[in-house]
Amino acid sequence: AASGSDLIRATLFPGDGIGPEIAESVKQVFKAADVPIEWEEHYVGQEVDPRTQSFLTWESLESVRRNKVGLKGPMATPIGKGHRSLNLTLRKELNLYANVRPCYSLPGYKTRYDDVNLITIRENTEGEYSGLEHQVVRGVVESLKIITRQASLRVAEYAFHYAKTHGRDRVSAIHKANIMQKTDGLFLKCCREVAEKYPEIKYEEVVIDNCCMMLVKNPALFDVLVMPNLYGDIISDLCAGLIGGLGLTPSCNIGEGGIALAEAVHGSAPDIAGKNLANPTALTLSAVTMLRHLELHDKADRIQNAILNTIAEGKYRTADLGGSSSTTDFTKAIIDHL
Ligand code: ATP
Ligand code: MG
Repeated sequence: AASGSDLIRATLFPGDGIGPEIAESVKQVFKAADVPIEWEEHYVGQEVDPRTQSFLTWESLESVRRNKVGLKGPMATPIGKGHRSLNLTLRKELNLYANVRPCYSLPGYKTRYDDVNLITIRENTEGEYSGLEHQVVRGVVESLKIITRQASLRVAEYAFHYAKTHGRDRVSAIHKANIMQKTDGLFLKCCREVAEKYPEIKYEEVVIDNCCMMLVKNPALFDVLVMPNLYGDIISDLCAGLIGGLGLTPSCNIGEGGIALAEAVHGSAPDIAGKNLANPTALTLSAVTMLRHLELHDKADRIQNAILNTIAEGKYRTADLGGSSSTTDFTKAIIDHL
């Protein structure tokens, strides 16, 4: 076990709905695996904090900035006017510029493919999500897609660095530069510039429509994919579908200054909240991406293998995977497989 002094502090947002139940699973699994992490738990506030204009408090954001690593459960933004959504607040305040989603087939959980092993890296700050929409004249509206050299280079650099440090040998830039000549053209130009600095990594450019066709035909064709915001939103969900869906897929947000905020892809699942039915796999695998970011690869492998082996064994599975185990029994099974 780690002595108190080498404990790494990490922020934990259990979140809403099924969040607290699955966050509890992560805490138990980490404890059983002797992961040297001390959680600093933060909850979404009851009222708007004027310093953040959202239900997330300034203290929570400071906690992530200080610790540089964190895990976030699903958060349902309270309805009402005069505040920013929780996810938007996190993204803007922490400058979370890249969303990384590892996507690999889970052995023993049968889908149409058993050889998916790819990473999508989505630019997270601009593109079609600039929020700049207006009406030009009645019946005509305009939405601005912003692509900057700075943000494109930053996400491309992250993608190549990721490929290099994770033993991957190819980066594919996904685009529609034949139509979006200026915007996607600039994005590609930046990717090419970065590619030149990484001669050991193969670089290719794939038009998004063709990419979709290739992904559903043979996902094993891809390794690391990097793309502008909207394409990333769509392609990463497509990839999640290839391996079994929302309860399984992890993600991690990378921010300025080395911040990593891991989060499950799914929402707060109000239909099953508080019933001990949720699948903690996605959040736990997200926590594993956080461990990899911290280069705690032994712990990450151990936990990832325990999850995969539990699912492969098939004795304990939650309802979304066709089983009848509760969250807590499934969690116990993971701990037994550590
Ligand atoms: P939100 O508004 O927070 O996104 P939602 O109603 O969209 O909530 P999701 O969380 O996106 O719900 O989930 C969609 C469906 O997938 C729901 O039926 C939910 O029960 C199921 N689901 C999502 N996550 C999990 C999970 N971890 N385990 C089991 N089922 C899940
Ligand atoms: Mg949802």
